[in-house]
Amino acid sequence: MKTYRIAAIPGDGIGKEVVPAGKRVLEAIGALSGDFTFEFEDFAWGGDYYRRHGVMMPADGLNEIRNKDAILFGSAGDPHIPDHITLWGLRLKICQGFDQYANVRPTRILPGIDGPLKRCAPKDLDWVIVRENSEGEYAGVGGRAHQGHPIEVATDVSMMTRAGVERILRFAFRIAQSRPRKLLTVITKSNAQRHAMVMWDEIALEVSKEFPDVTWDKELVDAATARMVNRPATLDTLVATNLHADILSDLAAALAGSLGIAPTANLDPERRYPSMFEPIHGSAFDIMGKGLANPIGTFWSVVMMLEHLGEMSAARTLMNAIESVTADPALHTADLGGKASTVQVTEAVCAFVAQAPAVVTKAV
Ligand code: NAD
Ligand code: MN
Repeated sequence: MKTYRIAAIPGDGIGKEVVPAGKRVLEAIGALSGDFTFEFEDFAWGGDYYRRHGVMMPADGLNEIRNKDAILFGSAGDPHIPDHITLWGLRLKICQGFDQYANVRPTRILPGIDGPLKRCAPKDLDWVIVRENSEGEYAGVGGRAHQGHPIEVATDVSMMTRAGVERILRFAFRIAQSRPRKLLTVITKSNAQRHAMVMWDEIALEVSKEFPDVTWDKELVDAATARMVNRPATLDTLVATNLHADILSDLAAALAGSLGIAPTANLDPERRYPSMFEPIHGSAFDIMGKGLANPIGTFWSVVMMLEHLGEMSAARTLMNAIESVTADPALHTADLGGKASTVQVTEAVCAFVAQAPAVVTKAV
């Protein structure tokens, strides 16, 4: 029996509600398979830890999770601590410390979900957004001087390296190649950002030559927002910089029905370090502690974790269970216009998993 060692980091707000739900679902999948099981270690890092210790996680915290097979993350963000401290002190520390340079965000309109686009059938919206996750606008380079004086100055410098751009574009071409349509849209802004984004475009052209079977095009990020809304079926795989993809993927999540459904994986494709799986939403201060959080984004993230671990059949079983649950409006949480609680949705997904034919782990 194989044991996967998982670091569970609920973090703040509804992270503390959806991560336990995600663990519960992983246990249900493990019980069904009989072939593998999960060993969780919980790390109570985040806002409460900050109040006691003045930091979001211990200085040597990465060493405590370095040897895990994967990380299940909730959210970092506390109403009483500035957002840049919570984000940089925990989530980005893990993403950057473990060089999880590929952030992958699949978006689909799941059965039973009513998306906001009038003329978009569910089959018209099936995207994977690949986000550069290690540099660019969020490199953390910059500073402030003359603070509080009229001549105060502040800079956030976007840093793009040839190596960093090459590896994310190559990763995105591979994802596009693995999907039926073999279609990639490279998001750019090389009209206004005339240095790094021009290099980005040049490298896209170079890397594309390694993938002659992938059809690709370029789109400026502002035009891409309109295309996502007006012509969603013309898109399949998208790749964009850290900032551009951050914004496009929240739009994608909204177009697919709710931020509460959207999953993400922060991958180290070379597997030098554990990868991290999390819903894309934040701490949701307005609903935290009320049992109203939609756990589907976390469950879909768990599907991505199972895929990363090579448990393809288990991943499919869980995705089927998720789609059976979203198909039933009685099992929708408030963000989808329903009345179900986090626990009800979780138990329903576990019940569908338990009914599934036994997971055959090897035969994929
Ligand atoms: P948010 O995602 O927390 O909430 C936005 C809106 O969506 C809220 O109305 C919320 O109730 C709703 N929502 C989000 N997830 C939901 C779910 N699972 N079920 C039902 N409704 C859900 O974004 P925000 O309000 O901009 O940020 C709140 C805090 O979270 C901030 O501190 C921010 O920095 C942090 N944050 C963290 C992450 C992360 O750790 N990855 C991501 C985004 C925001
Ligand atoms: Mn974001």
